[in-house]
Amino acid sequence: MNDKSKTSTPTNPRFRLLADSMLGRLARWLRLMGYDTTYAATLPDHQIAAQARAEGRIVLTRDRELARRKGIRALLIDSQILESQIQEVVSVLGLPATDLEPRCPQCNASLLQTTADAVRTRVPAHVLEKHQHFCRCSECDKIYWRGSHWQNVELLIAQVLENQDRAEDDNENQSGTIANATE
Ligand SMILES: [Zn+2]
Repeated sequence: MNDKSKTSTPTNPRFRLLADSMLGRLARWLRLMGYDTTYAATLPDHQIAAQARAEGRIVLTRDRELARRKGIRALLIDSQILESQIQEVVSVLGLPATDLEPRCPQCNASLLQTTADAVRTRVPAHVLEKHQHFCRCSECDKIYWRGSHWQNVELLIAQVLENQDRAEDDNENQSGTIANATE
């Protein structure tokens, strides 16, 4: 029998997202949760659509017209509140795969584990005293550690999960679906 295991990283289908200009804060949080999320800060709608198609991304938008655009998959975000927005994403797409690592909230690149020694000259002394584990962005080189901000992220995700369980009990059909218009 053939062994199908491959040497390369498994490429399970993962949701890749593209947040439009109104959802920058949401984009940063989704990256921390591990979702591959590009942020179209300045692109006009037709370019957002083109990029989403080219990269196989689901568009997150608060703009009904963009969400209805043909040829893209889009999720219309109703809420203006961050927690609810995350909830909306998770209730439709599900949580990111458990093995996904947080991505750089600034630039969406993957984060690499690094040591306290390697970042000694780049983080404040009081941080070095309290933390042993650091990450470095593979693209923008920013350094991260599990400080209070990180705890906020984990808290918020836990909250979203709890609400998610409740919502599933209430009604499975009420949550939105991804518009998947064809050309
Ligand atoms: Zn980065």
